[in-house]
Amino acid sequence: MAGAASLTPLLEQYERVKSRYPGHLVLFRVGDFYETFGEDARLVARELDVVLTARAPDSRGDRTPMAGVPHHAVDTYLGRLVRKGYKVALCDQVEDPKLAKGLVRREVTRVVTPGTVLEESILGGPESSFLASVVLSPDGRGAYAAVDVTTGEWLSGPADAPGPEGLASSLAALRPREILYGARPEEKEKLVPVLRAEFPRARLEAAPPPVEARELPATIGVAPDGAVGEPEARLLAYLRATQPRLLPHVERVDRGGGGRRLFLDAKTLRHLEVHRPMNPDDPAGPTLLDSWDETVTAAGRRTLSFWLTNPLADAGRIRARQEAVQALVDRPELLERLRTGFRGFPDVSRIASRVAGRRARPDELVALRRGLALAATVAQQLETPEAPPPLRSYAGDLAPSPALLDLLLRTLPDEIGRGAGPAELFRPGHAPEVDAPREEHARALEELAALERREQASTGIKGLKIGYNQVFGYYFEVTRPHLARVPPHFRRRQTVATAERFVSDELDRLAERIATTSEAAERAAEARWESFLGEVDREVARIHRVSRAVGALDVLADFAHLAVARGYVRPTVESSSVLMIREGRHPVLDRQLAERFVANDVDLDAQQHRLLVLTGPNMSGKSTYMRGVGLLVLLAQAGSFVPARYARVGVVDRLFTRMGFTDEIGRGKSSFMVEMLEVAEILRSADAGSLVLLDEVGRGTSTFDGLALAWAILRYLHDVTRSRTVLATHYHQLTQLSAGLSGARNAHLAVQDRPGGIVFLHRLVPGATEKSYGVHVARLAGLPAEVLRAAEGLLSELEAGEFGSPGQRPASRRAGPRYTQAVLWDAAPTASDPAVAELLGRPTEAETAEELRARLSELKRRLSGPPGPPGSTA
Ligand code: ADP
Ligand code: MG
Repeated sequence: MAGAASLTPLLEQYERVKSRYPGHLVLFRVGDFYETFGEDARLVARELDVVLTARAPDSRGDRTPMAGVPHHAVDTYLGRLVRKGYKVALCDQVEDPKLAKGLVRREVTRVVTPGTVLEESILGGPESSFLASVVLSPDGRGAYAAVDVTTGEWLSGPADAPGPEGLASSLAALRPREILYGARPEEKEKLVPVLRAEFPRARLEAAPPPVEARELPATIGVAPDGAVGEPEARLLAYLRATQPRLLPHVERVDRGGGGRRLFLDAKTLRHLEVHRPMNPDDPAGPTLLDSWDETVTAAGRRTLSFWLTNPLADAGRIRARQEAVQALVDRPELLERLRTGFRGFPDVSRIASRVAGRRARPDELVALRRGLALAATVAQQLETPEAPPPLRSYAGDLAPSPALLDLLLRTLPDEIGRGAGPAELFRPGHAPEVDAPREEHARALEELAALERREQASTGIKGLKIGYNQVFGYYFEVTRPHLARVPPHFRRRQTVATAERFVSDELDRLAERIATTSEAAERAAEARWESFLGEVDREVARIHRVSRAVGALDVLADFAHLAVARGYVRPTVESSSVLMIREGRHPVLDRQLAERFVANDVDLDAQQHRLLVLTGPNMSGKSTYMRGVGLLVLLAQAGSFVPARYARVGVVDRLFTRMGFTDEIGRGKSSFMVEMLEVAEILRSADAGSLVLLDEVGRGTSTFDGLALAWAILRYLHDVTRSRTVLATHYHQLTQLSAGLSGARNAHLAVQDRPGGIVFLHRLVPGATEKSYGVHVARLAGLPAEVLRAAEGLLSELEAGEFGSPGQRPASRRAGPRYTQAVLWDAAPTASDPAVAELLGRPTEAETAEELRARLSELKRRLSGPPGPPGSTA
């Protein structure tokens, strides 16, 4: 942009505002448009797909780029910018351009950030809207705080695990739209890329300096650990700058429902597709949340998402939820009544937040009344002795403040249009200060009608009409043929095609009175609206509680409804290390495949058979089985009933998954590297209370070191970690090795060999498979017949021991191990193996990717080592 000296006064004013709002896109009101200039204009043109124009050349001939959006549609554009992660300041004209001397005065009247918006049109959908704040200390410990200003929920705590990943995991369930970070430059360098990768759509910004701990609102109180953390104090500072009116209404909520919660790291949430699909190319892919969502309210949808991403780990709390679900399963009529009753229940939390932020529309207050009245009725029903005790505990929060409900009932009309203004909001008789000018105004309008009748009678012109237009105000209109009878006190005002228009002294006086009474009525209604919002404002936190109770009841009813409609069973949840499932089904795939889905059993127990090694060809159902196990546990611990014939779940407190290849080339890590990092994290953090699901370990490298690593990992999980673990593998050798471990078992997914090809049975059977059916699967995939024939030929030669290794000519055949997967060392490496001990002994997070890679290749060299049987290299 041009130097300040050559700026026009308008651009100068714009630059002044810009400098006071660094980091914001400033939308600058000029006439009927909100304009942006310079770099911002290029950005806005690109992001919003609006035309980039340019201002007239200035004194130096520079043409400043300019892009704008029409003011009446600004909320739509704001929504798009905010969803893309921009922070926007709206700069309005704060004086009447007609009255302004020189340049119109402009001021920022509204700041909209992704994590603090209140407007429905910008929020887009009922999903939670979290603003988070994270702090990472030099020692790697993290802490977070998060708030959804639209529902008043405030939560905080230490990170789930050390380092940037631990913080990302703590936030993954919340999917914040905006994240503030507090860290020294050293930590920031590590933290920001991790947050950016995990939350690509969130706005990231350095957190403001913290406020004093004692400035926290009383409703937030102290954190469960007794301290007000830095992330909370920073979050507070940001809210105070952006949405100060919302602050008094936030209230601390507990992610564990008052007890411990099941920790799901970011990867597990993604791998299990709990609330978002794994494949970014298929954003509408099925998620657990979607297949479990038959809630009927916006609060219910939010609560379901929260419960599924924050399952409990406290058997007592889980059983309490189950009791409530059971109570509804047992009372179909109550279940039906609850669900029908709540259908169409307005999003009272969001409305309340807009009341607090003074952005509510009058018709939303009418919706609020309807919602609160309904909540009051349901609360009453739940308080009766016939109501099932497990549901009765929700009645307290569900009941709105009687004073507020009374105020809304006394004040508001029965119905009101969406576009209605405050003037239409108040019932007559509610407020004398609104009624008086309104009646005055009505009387003035009556007198206008009377005047018309009088002038018609006295002139004898039946067609004489009083009309109104913007320019001339009120007038008498007389059509051409009657002009001769116009009385002398009419003064001519305007000529139109077929008539003449007149005014009179009396009409002028009346017009004046109509205008002033209308304005007075409007002003009185506005004033009353303001004080009315103030009265409702006092109850906002309580409305949030009502909404949360509605959400919880809606989800309990949802669970009960699914249990009945889909025949789910109540799992026995206990404090043990057992996991026993009979005829369990993958919750999401089961919905899609229906009767084609093959149910399977699960038997794990940290004390005894804690490790299941799963083999079977590609496409046989290994991944489906493992994900199913994870999802069934997650659902059980969220309080839901589950798709199985029977389930007994000893509470899991951490669920780890490592699945498939998640290449992160963009982050400079090969898929093998990612895999090793993930496994390292699991081996470090998992313990006897965890459930570990490992899909295909050690595949991204050559057969020998992959197998060696897979074996060492398996052994470590069995001996040291002692978690309940399911591990799927292509290495059939592993199953022979695991046969020697007391706590391990082998199983595979059955395949039927038919002359025309193989058939996947998807049934879990004990023991290992010997064949991997790779060629068969390739045939199913439609590889050219020629390729298949060649592969089959080579395979049988390999199996018959014709070659030293594939690709080698028979002439170069040599004694010793062959490169088929049937080859195995006789002595397995154990944790006492120096190479393995080395691998496991050192914390990998302290190393750079380079160092780790170097160490792995060294290990690889040692394991595949000097010529001779690999077993002897140990
Ligand atoms: P693998 O991991 O062994 O390669 P997957 O778990 O990815 O196999 O399963 C491949 C496909 O097989 C799935 O997409 C699904 O269509 C089908 N499948 C898997 N398990 C079952 C099952 N239990 N019942 C029916 N179909 C299944
Ligand atoms: Mg698989």
